[in-house]
Amino acid sequence: MNPKLETLRQADPDIYEAIMGELRREQNKLVLIASENYASPAVMEAQGSVFTNKYAEGYPGRRYYGGCEYADVMESLAIERAKGIFKAEHVNVQAHSGSQANMAVFFSALKPGDKILGMDLRHGGHLTHGAAVNFSGMIYENVFYGVDKETGYINYDLVRQEALNHMPKMIVAGASAYSRIIDFEKFAAIAAEVKALLLVDIAHIAGLIAAGLHPSPVAYADFVTSSTHKTLRGPRGGMIMCKDKYAKSIDKAVFPGIQGGPLMHVIAAKAVAFKEVLTDGFKEYQGQIIKNAQRLSNELINRGYKIISGGTDTHLMLVDLRSKNITGKEAEAALDAADITVNKNSIPYDDKPATVTSGIRLGTPALTTRGFTQEDMAVVADIIDKIITNPGHCGNIDDQRRRVRQLCKDKPVY
Ligand SMILES: *Cc1c(COP(=O)(O)O)cnc(C)c1O
Repeated sequence: MNPKLETLRQADPDIYEAIMGELRREQNKLVLIASENYASPAVMEAQGSVFTNKYAEGYPGRRYYGGCEYADVMESLAIERAKGIFKAEHVNVQAHSGSQANMAVFFSALKPGDKILGMDLRHGGHLTHGAAVNFSGMIYENVFYGVDKETGYINYDLVRQEALNHMPKMIVAGASAYSRIIDFEKFAAIAAEVKALLLVDIAHIAGLIAAGLHPSPVAYADFVTSSTHKTLRGPRGGMIMCKDKYAKSIDKAVFPGIQGGPLMHVIAAKAVAFKEVLTDGFKEYQGQIIKNAQRLSNELINRGYKIISGGTDTHLMLVDLRSKNITGKEAEAALDAADITVNKNSIPYDDKPATVTSGIRLGTPALTTRGFTQEDMAVVADIIDKIITNPGHCGNIDDQRRRVRQLCKDKPVY
């Protein structure tokens, strides 16, 4: 990457300093936040381009502004690439974020007060799947399913039972902190049985699906939403896929329903990311993400940690810290002191509030982008364990931070 930003340095030294600080942070710390990644320099160049100047309300070929000839070419490419990757009948690439993508689906298919069955936030679901503090919880009536207390897996019989009990208008599958393959075919069968619409939110696992390493919901679901910046490794943004019969209402729900002008610079960056998905290297990368997550999980299990559901099929895992006598909040702070960035996370049936939690969520997309392999993950697991078992010891934290620095130096990003 070219981090010089000379013009910006002159024009706005304060923001320049903040950006350079962020660059150093991203270079020198181990990012284990499951929802984060490093977009490529090409993606960032597109996002930093002149398309930020362009109004293009509407869709390719039918805009409400003149001068959209290049915007049309670019957005059409983004749409065609996404359709090819996911085998989707229709794609909308204008959603500003994953949350906006979900909002557009709800607004297109539901009326206020309609019932949604989604995954409980405390069991790994997302805010937009009906949490009380979110628009989805305020506008709709929400009922939830969760994971089995013993196994940590989604219990599809219980999902079906909840669906039969509540007869929701829409069922939402997909999660932010679930480490196992989700059986979309089963969700589709349950939705069909209760005549509910099915929305599958693949925000976290879109990259794995694009690479064929997680089953795709596109053939089964009425709507599929995603963010573009997690495993998919594009710019911060959202997208929606749907069957042709919903195309018009989805596009209308995004614009003029909930958004004005699309972020054309971000759509350009999405298009670049989609092109990267179509390379051989991408499939290899996604495979390595999973191998790295499985190695990290196994190494932690060997050191006496409990992983929810006993392991992972994906890019992430939820670590239950109760056996280690430390809360998620304390673990997050101790790891941060040694330059390892994670997030505290509620575990299923957690008795601690969301501000404290009994767990942390770990993911490997970002470390894999900087070239980490299974062997590196064994070292990472050892560092994490040494910090968590002795968080108050300054010398120990300093030692572990030095090991982190070395890993970052050996495998630089950007
Ligand atoms: C991250 C995420 C989203 C969207 O997030 P934004 O921050 O709005 O882009 C939606 N659904 C799930 C399941 C997610 O994990």
